Amino acid sequence: MPSETHFAVIGGGQAAGRAVEAVRAAGFDGAITLVAAEPHLPYERPPLSKNVLVGEDPPEKTEIHGEEFYRSHGIALRLGTRAEAIDRAQKTIVLSDGATLSYDKLLIATGAKLRRLGIPGAGLDGVCYLRSRQDSEDIQRRLAPDAEVVIVGGGYIGLEVAASAVKRGCRVTVVELLDRVMARAVAPEIGDAFLDYHRQAGVTFHLGVGVEAFAGASAVKAVRCGGGLELPADVAVVGVGVEPDTELAEAAGLEVDDGIVVDEFCRTADPAIYAAGDVTNHPNPLLGRRIRLESWQNAQNQAIRAARNMCGESEPYAEIPWFWSDQYDLNLQMVGLPEDWDRVLFRGSAEQRKFTALYMKDGRLIGANCVNNARDIRPCRELIARGKTLDPAVLEDPAKPLRDLLKES
Ligand SMILES: Cc1cc2nc3c(=O)[nH]c(=O)nc-3n(C[C@H](O)[C@H](O)[C@H](O)COP(=O)(O)OP(=O)(O)OC[C@H]3O[C@@H](n4cnc5c(N)ncnc54)[C@H](O)[C@@H]3O)c2cc1C
Repeated sequence: MPSETHFAVIGGGQAAGRAVEAVRAAGFDGAITLVAAEPHLPYERPPLSKNVLVGEDPPEKTEIHGEEFYRSHGIALRLGTRAEAIDRAQKTIVLSDGATLSYDKLLIATGAKLRRLGIPGAGLDGVCYLRSRQDSEDIQRRLAPDAEVVIVGGGYIGLEVAASAVKRGCRVTVVELLDRVMARAVAPEIGDAFLDYHRQAGVTFHLGVGVEAFAGASAVKAVRCGGGLELPADVAVVGVGVEPDTELAEAAGLEVDDGIVVDEFCRTADPAIYAAGDVTNHPNPLLGRRIRLESWQNAQNQAIRAARNMCGESEPYAEIPWFWSDQYDLNLQMVGLPEDWDRVLFRGSAEQRKFTALYMKDGRLIGANCVNNARDIRPCRELIARGKTLDPAVLEDPAKPLRDLLKES
């Protein structure tokens, strides 16, 4: 007899989609309901700034599974429906369509929401943000050949949009408040290499410049920046980061501190409630600190771990963070989460568009960026996890495979 237990999942992104799949795969035979504010089947976001944005892939390709999968696995979908409130005492969720859903166990996977600029002209047509499928489709329509595209923010999303806009024949300008790009993600040396790659592709940069207003009658015509700089714009794409979408959890009295606070088992302090994905502040046992990630890997694997733990397992979620970005012909993969390195060593050269940058601290590897050099990722992950001191001469010699160091340590 199937169990009477009901697992509910809130969110329609990657974490939610993978969690319902994993709960069923773990053998849970009770009821599963996924509540998603967006009208789409659960989907992955990375292609939204890449293949989908340039029009190479249709948005439907981002879907984790087709409708048939959910039907055949007995997973009820409440799409286009927001969870408005969680009543932890009653173990119920109030939905935006007026219904109330009861749960025995609940996974919150509400992800992240866009940080928006509150400056004059922010509501003009053509001032765009990129988070959802709809955003990607809207921006794509505006990326006509020769369109003047101003990107506000030189983070990895802004730079991916820049590369996609170049591919569509647009004239692209990036305005960044800091004096370098991808400052949150990579060391200055790597940011500078990417700055060069983008300049070679024809992108103009204004670094150390703040945006003060968008100008135009009903649609944006220009972006006004500090120092009197005014840039013509047919479209402005703002990529200034996201914040964890913790509203629902906070209102339910769960602990929130830059994300929903969970333990290494993905549990909140409420034994019936778990959380996974961009929305969590979680301990990483391999790094020895609490972190919040905005990454495909974390959305996928933390959700799967949470789902299994909801089904009765008790395994910690412990992985070295990994992240990637695609810009032009460049595949950048980042492993580890280096904060305070003392040296960056290079294998290969930035000019050849194929290299690995190794972030060192006290002779140990704490992070790596691999550009068109994916084969270094696995050994780097291992070497970071082992935390042994390494010989810089070997690390810097591209003729010596990193995997050989694994045999020695
Ligand atoms: C354009 C773009 C490109 C990216 N590229 C990369 C990349 O190259 N590599 C990489 O590693 N990562 C990338 N990422 C990051 C990665 O996509 C995210 O980390 C991942 O989507 C997080 O998944 P999630 O399920 O935790 O949250 P989300 O994807 O944010 O999904 C959360 C969902 O919950 C829904 N929701 C929120 N509140 C409620 C509610 N109250 N009721 C019902 N539903 C609700 C939201 O509508 C949303 O659909 C990219 C992200 C974006 C936006």
